[in-house]
Amino acid sequence: MSISAVKIRLVGIVQGVGFRPFVYRLATRLGLRGYVVNRGGAEVEIFVEGDDDKINRFMMLLEREKPPPALFEEIFIERSSPLNLRDFRILKSVYDRSRRSMIPPDVAICEECTREIKDPSSRFYRYYWNSCAWCGPRFSMIYRTPYDRENTSMRKYLLCEKCRHDYEDPDNIRRFHAEGISCPICGVRTYLYDNRGRKIDLREDLVNFISKEILKGSIVAIKEAGGYHIAALASREDLCGEVFKIDLSEYRGPYMTPPRP
Ligand SMILES: [Zn+2]
Ligand SMILES: [Zn+2]
Repeated sequence: MSISAVKIRLVGIVQGVGFRPFVYRLATRLGLRGYVVNRGGAEVEIFVEGDDDKINRFMMLLEREKPPPALFEEIFIERSSPLNLRDFRILKSVYDRSRRSMIPPDVAICEECTREIKDPSSRFYRYYWNSCAWCGPRFSMIYRTPYDRENTSMRKYLLCEKCRHDYEDPDNIRRFHAEGISCPICGVRTYLYDNRGRKIDLREDLVNFISKEILKGSIVAIKEAGGYHIAALASREDLCGEVFKIDLSEYRGPYMTPPRP
């Protein structure tokens, strides 16, 4: 059994898709030491040291078990000398621009996040901005790469105690180092305005209310991270009620056009 080390550079969709936490879990599962780091552009660097056979297994599983949205365009592998590291770590991102930038795409909400929104016992119950390492806006809210929270429009939302705990917990598959997470305590608020710009105070659940309004014939503009959705009852052409607008003006990604006066 010999100890060796390799440095791997991966280029592609490897940021904003839960890739670093995945590498962390894979390496620690195999008992390998080293680090993973986001580099500027669209690159992740991995260094692993340990038994030869474990490193080979790591390389094989890196491709086979990677998160579904991840995509490798280029892979560079070089032999390296062991650094005698004690454990495996996710290092702070490095800002170099050696390679072209590839901004991670927005990923539609996953089944787990949807389940939490519908679950009265979940702390994300009825929190429509729920997201995790596997889903959520990326392209719409990123200011620059690498994909870290401070480079996105989520930087103004400081994580609450529970979200911070989830973010730092390696066993939390969906929230460990998930840059865009938030909850009803620390996250984005949702507001409802009528077609004259007057804020509507609701006692009932907003989505329930909006659903009923759409059925009555209202047209609703839903402003979210990447633009507006226009929601209307397609089956009733004759109906065109009051226009409601959900304004999320505090949530503004770099690609959103500024609101008209
Ligand atoms: Zn999710
Ligand atoms: Zn929170």
